[in-house]
Amino acid sequence: MKFELPQLDYSYDALEPFIDAKTMEIHHSKHHQTYLEKFNAVLEKYPDLNYNSAEDILKNLETLPVAEADRVVIKNMGGGFVNHSLFWKIMAPKKEIDAGLIKDIEKDFGSMIDFKALFTKLATAHFGSGWTWLVRDAEGKLAVYSLQNQDSPLSIGHEPVFVIDLWEHAYYLKYQNRRAEYIENWWNVLKLI
Ligand code: MN
Repeated sequence: MKFELPQLDYSYDALEPFIDAKTMEIHHSKHHQTYLEKFNAVLEKYPDLNYNSAEDILKNLETLPVAEADRVVIKNMGGGFVNHSLFWKIMAPKKEIDAGLIKDIEKDFGSMIDFKALFTKLATAHFGSGWTWLVRDAEGKLAVYSLQNQDSPLSIGHEPVFVIDLWEHAYYLKYQNRRAEYIENWWNVLKLI
């Protein structure tokens, strides 16, 4: 089983002016594609590995019967593949309201304003490459945190809800060093809230 690059539900320029078309094109067709190819390549070494999905592999990362060096490659490349697949899905030119999610956010964070402030603060403060996540823990409670590199909440038993990519390749062409401005603008293209 070889994983494939998921197509976007919108065109590369659909998230303009908040995320520019060139960034989207390179991010999807080059960066995501490279994670995918390296993920497929390392899995080729283990034809007997049993899994239902890429997410399933990350959920069982610690117990996969693979060499330790390859576990790191699977974490990085598999994470890169799965994280970006989610990132494209949670963004869109048109917003959708999920009343249940809003209710849960208000329950677990006080208010939407408090939640947005917390998420934005964590994302802005993150040092280096990584992602800031909204997740559900094993009990279904919402949590917000940042993880380094391509590490996935799936590997610690959490279910991702939405996420922002903080790697420079996600914003540098348009925003250069102004990551805080990218994060602020990203809320406009977050589909589900
Ligand atoms: Mn990225």
